Amino acid sequence: MDANREARAIAASLPFDQFSSGLDGSLVTPTDDAYGAARRVWNGMVNEYPAAIAYCESTADVRASVAFAREHDVDLTVRSGGHSVSGASVASGALVVDCSRMEWVRVDPDGRTARVGPGATWGTVDRATQSFGLATPGGVFSDTGVAGLTLGGGTGYLSPKHGFTADNLRSVDVVTGEGERVTAGPDQHSDLFWAARGGGTPGVVTAFEFDLHPLDHDVLYFESWLPVDAASDALRAYREYQGDAPDEACVSPYFAAVPATADFPADRHGEFAFVLSGVYAGDPVAGRDEFAPFIDRADAFAASTDTMAYTDLQTMMDHDFPDGRHYFWKSVPLPELGDDAIDLFADAATNAPSDLSTVVVWPMHGAVERLPDETSPVVGRDAAVVVNVEAAWDDPMATPENVQWVRETCREFRALDSTPGTLPNFAGGSAPDAADVYATHADRLRRVRERYDPAGVFRYERE
Ligand SMILES: Cc1cc2nc3c(=O)[nH]c(=O)nc-3n(C[C@H](O)[C@H](O)[C@H](O)COP(=O)(O)OP(=O)(O)OC[C@H]3O[C@@H](n4cnc5c(N)ncnc54)[C@H](O)[C@@H]3O)c2cc1C
Repeated sequence: MDANREARAIAASLPFDQFSSGLDGSLVTPTDDAYGAARRVWNGMVNEYPAAIAYCESTADVRASVAFAREHDVDLTVRSGGHSVSGASVASGALVVDCSRMEWVRVDPDGRTARVGPGATWGTVDRATQSFGLATPGGVFSDTGVAGLTLGGGTGYLSPKHGFTADNLRSVDVVTGEGERVTAGPDQHSDLFWAARGGGTPGVVTAFEFDLHPLDHDVLYFESWLPVDAASDALRAYREYQGDAPDEACVSPYFAAVPATADFPADRHGEFAFVLSGVYAGDPVAGRDEFAPFIDRADAFAASTDTMAYTDLQTMMDHDFPDGRHYFWKSVPLPELGDDAIDLFADAATNAPSDLSTVVVWPMHGAVERLPDETSPVVGRDAAVVVNVEAAWDDPMATPENVQWVRETCREFRALDSTPGTLPNFAGGSAPDAADVYATHADRLRRVRERYDPAGVFRYERE
């Protein structure tokens, strides 16, 4: 039976009418017109047919959904922003607990905290917190969900200064696999709180509470585009720089095809290039000085430097990752940016089957590395950088070669002196082994899951 017919058969066998009549929100099943759109997520490669999607509007709806899944032995996935790269938030035959309507943000400017509903995106949170001159480190794309990103650790431009997103978590309200509603923080259900800081959670988070930090001025963003054959030299310069980089600086080089726009010389359009790019979250004038060696490189064929509001920075990349395209991403943490890794970068990028793909070097200095390893399930705080290999393509027939390029490139980086584990938000694949992602923390995480979800109601795939 194909997945669509199977989803219909499962839905027909379950008392969904009775279940939906008790919801504040609504239920979409395979026979509804809305089903086609409701089953999709950001990544067009994901093509799952859930038995139903429960659009929850309250904690009561979430509890009812968890109880229904447990009682009827239905697989359960949780979706908030729908930007799971692997599509882990939807699965064929499962009940999807969709929290996207629980989108709210309450800022306490005096206490410098924010309470955030699970359906909020980073765009909503950044706008709300910036109206008080405050911020917490989120991702670099405004449509990504706060929920999935935080529960997978979360890296962004403010991470060198303030740590992973999850390091800034004060508490979470969770409906556990047993249907219990608990608040987890450093002093209560501290094991569940630890898991939520990057290890997913054996339950549905219905509220997040974050620490906020002052950010009441513009930030500086720069880009310098270099020919690929300048990449080795530039990456060596970057390695030197990273050794002493201040917490305000987040320099993240990447490889990408030159866009065919007036900002770039026409004879470079479409060719793979190496880009030095970075953000300075302190005084922009100091940032211009700080980044001068990168900005003023003589071998750059295009360069720009802008000061902008943090909310503008956070939406700058939105058009680069459109909904519905095909994506496959994986990452590898490296303890150092060795010469062998540097050589591999340019090879990997120029071999990408799609010119929409990119290889990104993400820095891991500052607050991220100062926090002890036991702070959260995310491993690799001692890595110098994380390499993200990000394939994007439009033609579904090109899926095998693009997935293979990512896997093969990551295998080659892994074969160097790599750090065990990986960033949960970029783990790749739909069901990676927890030990491959969480390494030394995998057992502790399993124990937390067994305690709060003994019946195994939740699926635990991370991307
Ligand atoms: C364009 C783009 C840019 C990105 N940039 C960054 C970045 O800068 N930094 C970074 O760290 N990551 C980044 N990511 C990765 C991103 O953090 C993850 O894909 C994340 O899972 C997305 O969260 P979501 O809520 O949108 O996803 P969803 O698909 O809704 O959920 C993903 C997973 O999170 C869990 N989950 C979601 N909601 C809940 C909940 N309420 N309770 C319990 N579990 C829940 C579930 O396990 C679910 O499978 C990016 C992803 C995309 C697509």
